[in-house]
Amino acid sequence: MWTYHPTLLATPVPRYTSYPTAADFGPLEPGTIERAVASAEGDISLYLHIPFCEAICFYCGCNTAVSGKRARVAAYLAALHQEIATVGSLLPQGTKVRRIAFGGGSPNAILTGEFLGLVDALHAHLPLAAPEWSIELDPRSLTAEWSGVLASAGITRASMGVQTFAAHCQKAIGREQSLTMICRSTDWLRKGGVTSLNFDLMYGLPHQSEADLEDSLEMTRKLGADRIAVFGYAHVPHLVPRQTMIREADLPGAAARFTMAGEAHRILTAGGYRAIGFDHFALPHDSMALAARAGRLRRNFQGFTDDPSEVLIGMGASAISGFPGLHAQNEKHTATYRQLSEVGRLSASHGIARSAEDQRRGALIEALLCQGEAVVPDDLLAQVAGRLAAFTDEGLAQLRGNHLAIPPHGLPYARVIAALFDAYRAATPRTFSSAI
Ligand code: SF4
Repeated sequence: MWTYHPTLLATPVPRYTSYPTAADFGPLEPGTIERAVASAEGDISLYLHIPFCEAICFYCGCNTAVSGKRARVAAYLAALHQEIATVGSLLPQGTKVRRIAFGGGSPNAILTGEFLGLVDALHAHLPLAAPEWSIELDPRSLTAEWSGVLASAGITRASMGVQTFAAHCQKAIGREQSLTMICRSTDWLRKGGVTSLNFDLMYGLPHQSEADLEDSLEMTRKLGADRIAVFGYAHVPHLVPRQTMIREADLPGAAARFTMAGEAHRILTAGGYRAIGFDHFALPHDSMALAARAGRLRRNFQGFTDDPSEVLIGMGASAISGFPGLHAQNEKHTATYRQLSEVGRLSASHGIARSAEDQRRGALIEALLCQGEAVVPDDLLAQVAGRLAAFTDEGLAQLRGNHLAIPPHGLPYARVIAALFDAYRAATPRTFSSAI
């Protein structure tokens, strides 16, 4: 049972898919990303961003646009093909691509032939070493044809955006998809060879009750999702203008959101799922659950992951690449991205060089969020002691010597506790989402 301490959740904090976070990125010297790709070593992972969707959901903060203008999609994909070739020409001998993820947007908003063209380009230009393939999918644009396409591409992991099964909530967020559509999509994905299927769900949606959330969780469980992500809707219309379509007055309050998050945790863990970090759940056989149990869970730009690679190369507009010493984000505007890519240049001009101190603090934050514990160096402990006491006094964190642990009932406070070790937060004021 989680206890609500509103004052401890009052400060919005980052989700820490990286440290330093994207909010702390600044201009990079020309040639930085090329040098980083050219010095990559060992196993690497790839992420390809497809910034198109069948329709845009009111709540979405992603860099995406409607896929209706075919010429625009084709021009973008031509630039992506060029970027694949450029990255392939820079990667040193001996590197091996072990994972490839397609995200967006909705990768299935493009034509199946266009998708297979990208898969062929990856095979042609990059050192693939029997990689594991994954994809994010929108059930509204999924067809039976995609089942065969996923099978021929060898995709075994898929994540489907569902958010809620409640029709009145779907209407309020501009994402209407029937139960039949979700069931049919699940069937197609399983037939296409997907062995690890994730459903994205949300709490804190307009007009959403606890019973609505409970129904969605139960339906997801019955459909056999191997993984479930349960995200809190972050209402920040000043940052995401399309969210003005959602009325603040229709949203559950902070206390109701806290209860919903706690209920999701209780229902899913009682239903056989293992809690992964602060917002994911996985069945015990799933590789994410196995990684969590073995202490191998990581956090990267895609969220919680069992990917052990230190190098993730993002391709496509706004995609972020991560190297031990650098984070770099591709040009966000698709027109500029296309212009740069078409002349064989990589477009990442913003990011941050990760100092040894960044890497030390980043490892600590990642350990707290993924393993729920970390050994804190003396100097960092001295810096946070006063603020950490607010959490240890309530039993939400436990400190024994230098060993800091977040017990299960401290989980909703994990991001706030991790943020104590973020050296940038005081320096870079910015609005993040609430911690729960
Ligand atoms: S389908 Fe996904 S990426 Fe596209 S608008 Fe909706 S939430 Fe955003």
